[in-house]
Amino acid sequence: MPIALCPLPPTFAPLNKKDKYQIVIGLEVHAQLLTKSKLFCGDSAAFSTDPNTHISPVTLAHPGTLPKMNSKAIEYAITLGLALDCEIEQYNYFARKNYFYPDLPKGYQVSQHTTPICKNGSVPISINGTDRKIRLNRIHIEEDAGKSLHDVDENYTCIDLNRAGVPLLEIVSEPDMHSSEEAFAYITELRKLVTWLGICDGNMEEGSMRCDANISIRLAGEKKLGTRVEVKNLNSIRNVKRAIDVEVNRLIELVENNQPVIQETRSYDADNNITFSLRSKEDADDYRYFPEPDLTPFQITDDYLVEIRNKLPVLPNALKKRYIRELQLSDYDAAVICDDKDQADYFEAVVQHTTNYKAVANWLLGPVKNQLNDRKMWYTNFPLPAEKLALLISLVDTGTLNFGNASSKVLPVLIDHPQKQPLQIATELNLIQESDSSAVENWVDEVIANMPDKVKQYQLGKKGLIGLFVGEVKRLSKGKADMQLVSKILEQKLK
Ligand code: ADP
Ligand code: MG
Repeated sequence: MPIALCPLPPTFAPLNKKDKYQIVIGLEVHAQLLTKSKLFCGDSAAFSTDPNTHISPVTLAHPGTLPKMNSKAIEYAITLGLALDCEIEQYNYFARKNYFYPDLPKGYQVSQHTTPICKNGSVPISINGTDRKIRLNRIHIEEDAGKSLHDVDENYTCIDLNRAGVPLLEIVSEPDMHSSEEAFAYITELRKLVTWLGICDGNMEEGSMRCDANISIRLAGEKKLGTRVEVKNLNSIRNVKRAIDVEVNRLIELVENNQPVIQETRSYDADNNITFSLRSKEDADDYRYFPEPDLTPFQITDDYLVEIRNKLPVLPNALKKRYIRELQLSDYDAAVICDDKDQADYFEAVVQHTTNYKAVANWLLGPVKNQLNDRKMWYTNFPLPAEKLALLISLVDTGTLNFGNASSKVLPVLIDHPQKQPLQIATELNLIQESDSSAVENWVDEVIANMPDKVKQYQLGKKGLIGLFVGEVKRLSKGKADMQLVSKILEQKLK
């Protein structure tokens, strides 16, 4: 029988507070849909720093105005639902959620209360190579409110209604996450997916993706959920993780000191890394939901579902697996390439012109990425045709150019002059490697003649000196000698 090794008998093990409790997290993510117009009228849904420029009488809720459904928002909601294996609700209607707030011109928000368009499904996450699925409760469509501006005027709160009526998806998870790392992975994955599908720009700083974290703790092994606290105002993925960490510590501290946990809504102050109470849930509003009478219920047909399913792109996880299986990329390379759709599309385009897939991944994750960063560009405005990058890679593969020169000297010029040929640039910069063996032989002879002592040491067994000789030939040839050939000739001559 195998003996379990245990450093201390379990009864003496100190009880770590973090092990004593299980953390439970459920996230609500609001994603602003990339439709051109708002959910119920033709006003632009684009982000604008110029307040109150996207406001028609419908947005302002003038008497007599009527909403009209934006079908693109429905298409996008279904797209995400199918990508996350949700069940799609085919019979949909909207409800009015009544509450008074200055940024809500109608006095109610139109939302899907009882018929969320997507139910169940899950978000796949991977932490240190372990895969898990975080179950979803629902995804529903709703309209956004406007924005109160408290810091514009000394005496008044100002209001910007550009955002009022913009379509949102509210993506609600089950309380399935048990660490801030899992929450981080979940929201990272969700962000990758909505941008991959082109339904949301994922920009958390501009508010097009917002997250509320519901957090509770319970004694390890306990089945019943603890009282939850909801933390709002999380405007970056990093802050979601930080806020959960501080809130969990606060909850543990409360429980350890026999203080009650109150169900409440809190806000996160990122500057001071603390959360503070906004309101207690006990005086929760009565929203007086009722079906929106100005919008007719709508039925999603089977044909329409098939049509959207057929338009779904290959999803990042499936693509990653394909790259590992068919192109023999490492797990890491495949995962990073599939972090972004534009990058994966470019990768796909380059591998149409070469079979050195590993080299393409290395180029994209190394020199090309550096160039994009330096130039503040992305693949969407990258001028280099995929075919030219494949040509450059093949020049390295055939030994015409060495990798260092190809990546640091030829690539930048090629990006500036994408109409030129990589070989032409390498020739103009005088970087073509010398693979004519007589030229290489002359350099090798010169190095050997210049270093008689070292040669003797090498011949007496100090084989590590080979690097020195290679380096000298490289210097003498100004980097143009084909290094493979240099090594071969050096070894022959030094025997
Ligand atoms: P509300 O609209 O009042 O916030 P929801 O039913 O929409 O309520 O749930 C909000 C989120 O809270 C969901 O993501 C859910 O998983 C999560 N949640 C519910 N109970 C708990 C709990 N005890 N601990 C942590 N998360 C919870
Ligand atoms: Mg909530």
